[in-house]
Amino acid sequence: MNEYRIPSASTLHKRFIESIKSIPVTCDDRTLIKMILAIIHLLERSFSSTFPGFVKDMLKAGIVGLPNVGKSTLFNAVTRTRKAEAANYPFCTIDPNVGIVTVPDARLEPLARISKTTTIIPAAVEFVDIAGLVKGASQGEGLGNKFLSHIREVDAIVQVVRCFEDPDVHHVAGAIDPVRDIETVTTELVLADLEAAKKRLERIAKDAKRGDKIALAEEAVLKKIEPHLDAGKPGNTLALTPEEKAISKGFFLLSDKPTIFAANVKETDLAQADSNPHVAKVREYARTHHDCETVVISAQIESDLIDLSPEEAREFLKELGVSESGVGALIRSTYHLLGLRTYFTASEKEARAWTIHAGDTAPKAAGVIHTDFERGFIKAETVAYEDLVRCGSIAAAREKGLYRMEGKEYVVKDGDVLMFKFNV
Ligand code: GDP
Repeated sequence: MNEYRIPSASTLHKRFIESIKSIPVTCDDRTLIKMILAIIHLLERSFSSTFPGFVKDMLKAGIVGLPNVGKSTLFNAVTRTRKAEAANYPFCTIDPNVGIVTVPDARLEPLARISKTTTIIPAAVEFVDIAGLVKGASQGEGLGNKFLSHIREVDAIVQVVRCFEDPDVHHVAGAIDPVRDIETVTTELVLADLEAAKKRLERIAKDAKRGDKIALAEEAVLKKIEPHLDAGKPGNTLALTPEEKAISKGFFLLSDKPTIFAANVKETDLAQADSNPHVAKVREYARTHHDCETVVISAQIESDLIDLSPEEAREFLKELGVSESGVGALIRSTYHLLGLRTYFTASEKEARAWTIHAGDTAPKAAGVIHTDFERGFIKAETVAYEDLVRCGSIAAAREKGLYRMEGKEYVVKDGDVLMFKFNV
């Protein structure tokens, strides 16, 4: 995949300091280095303020599935209907198979009304269209290894499963059978992982034999993983302790990745998805064999929405008896599956959603906006979204004691509306 990322300015800064520490320097050199550091700091500041929405490591979800299940239709539609404003997320990608998609959040509009702004900037995640999965991919069929390496690069998998009948759209295996399709995809991932696990066991055998601690720990985990995969089960269903999980992360298994099944139904079936037998089978299978969530979508509806105005889109969906194509729910679920949470900032300039990881503290959350905010963090003025909406304004929330000051240890909650105080 032809993708490039620019490391954040603070990472460059740290790397630079680390690398110069090892160089013997004279006094003159030190002055020069000080100057360079000052320039880097300046660059960092102007870079961050020019691109305040610069997301350092945007998380990626890969769309996989058999051919003709609707992957490209979904990807093309989603990256056009939910396209993130390029100006807010520059430099993330130049690859046509990667699209930045906004995460729909119904809380942004009320927040914008309260802060008297018309500018709304939602959070975003990356979606990657991963082509090439056919039976035998683990043995090199189709795009084979290329396909597998693309999956290795994503943080979560959205597996599109065909639940729509359409005689004009050929099915690679002849008939619609979503459970068989899931098994085909899973088998390829599990076989690739099994081979990787076996190779690794062979590679560390010598070190384990001579008592190397790391090799022994890896071997113990691999000996649990191998029979599990050998039984055809995906890595993400194996019960491991947190320590074992940390070790297994280093094996980069494909079937270990958090997964969502996207059951792609016919346009006219979306309103009655619960009574669709194919969907019922996918849900049941996902629950019992994968411990995964299933989201019902219609890639075709999302595709039909591309050229419609918001009013036309609402009318079109109403006629189909639904309020959305299901893709909004898919993006939200993926966002949560990736362990991501949202906090907001709201002012007359804009109401904006920012992405953090579950468990991030206030300074870390501040650093998503600007590295200076994290470095010079003093406190965060905080109000929960529900409290703010109930009170109707920051002033009213403050009067009721719901607008609080939080310090460095505060773990930001999903939906917090924050204002940072910092000093650099
Ligand atoms: P991919 O090979 O998985 O990327 O599949 P595509 O997205 O190229 O879709 C294959 C064909 O199925 C195309 O002709 C699409 O128009 C059609 N298709 C995709 N999703 C739907 C759907 O939800 N309903 C119907 N009727 N056709 C769909």
